[in-house]
Amino acid sequence: MSEVQTLRGAIDSAALGRVLIHEHIFLMDMEYTYNYRQDFFEDRTITDAAARLNALKASGIDTIIDLTVLGLGRHVPSLAKVAPLTDLNIIVSTGAYTFDAVPGPFQFHGPGLLLDRPEPMVDLFVRDITEGIGSTTLKAGELKCAIDMQGLRPGVERIMRAVARANVLTGAPITVHTAPQIESGLIVQQVLSEEGVNLEDVIIGHCGDTDNIDYLMKLADKGSLLGMDRFGVEFAITMEQRVATIVEMVKRGYVKHIALSHDCCAWSDFFPDVADYHRAMPRHNYLHIHDDVIPALLEAGVSQRDLDTMFIDNPRRHFEAAAKHFAER
Ligand SMILES: [Zn+2]
Repeated sequence: MSEVQTLRGAIDSAALGRVLIHEHIFLMDMEYTYNYRQDFFEDRTITDAAARLNALKASGIDTIIDLTVLGLGRHVPSLAKVAPLTDLNIIVSTGAYTFDAVPGPFQFHGPGLLLDRPEPMVDLFVRDITEGIGSTTLKAGELKCAIDMQGLRPGVERIMRAVARANVLTGAPITVHTAPQIESGLIVQQVLSEEGVNLEDVIIGHCGDTDNIDYLMKLADKGSLLGMDRFGVEFAITMEQRVATIVEMVKRGYVKHIALSHDCCAWSDFFPDVADYHRAMPRHNYLHIHDDVIPALLEAGVSQRDLDTMFIDNPRRHFEAAAKHFAER
């Protein structure tokens, strides 16, 4: 057992229950929202999010990992308003999300830069995990970074190494947004290993966007969890293909390396209105896995025990392994 930070304080890893490992609540370009989306700051944004999360809890999910970090509009004051309105455990994250350059505030200071000093992101991420985010005492429980089709750009690598160092210093586990089309999960495993991260502490995100079984087995064989985490995003690959890939991986003995999620949100400024979002992506909501994916997996021969492994045991092990590796260092 280990301690996991949520928006309602630390809980025991044994109390995580059923977990969706990659979700968001509010997802935005914060500068745009501040200037052009005053509706975000209305009470109904909070109450609508709470209602959606309560429906998720009622469907049998106990915990979500909200992977909204710098670059995706993390707004902890709003999350803090949602938390008391739901019994769902919400784990929030720290890190940064970019496919190319570092966020502007880091471009001039850091190793070898105009102000040559140790990597400032490490201290910020560690502070979010150990002391609290912003002026709050709400702590991040997960680290997050990204690599996409552009590959290991210098900014992407700098953030990835900062996230790795924060993992080594705190024992918080890591999720990485990856692009399976370029097999970037393998690059992630290489870079994180170089920094001393145990790959069992890592979720390789968006593995569900491919049906390349050989690639997925390679990642899992190094100990990481595979995020089959974009159910409801159907422009890359259909639900049926996503389900078939999980079924095949389970058949091959990889059930201990799979975790599921939607990567959806309650409110986003990516669409002019929440209703537009749900019109454009009708199955991209918190209940899709419960309503459609789990019945399809059972129908295809995945057992209830396998489902428990993927929704309960694997996410729990993600946190416990990271805590154990930290304690052993
Ligand atoms: Zn995401």
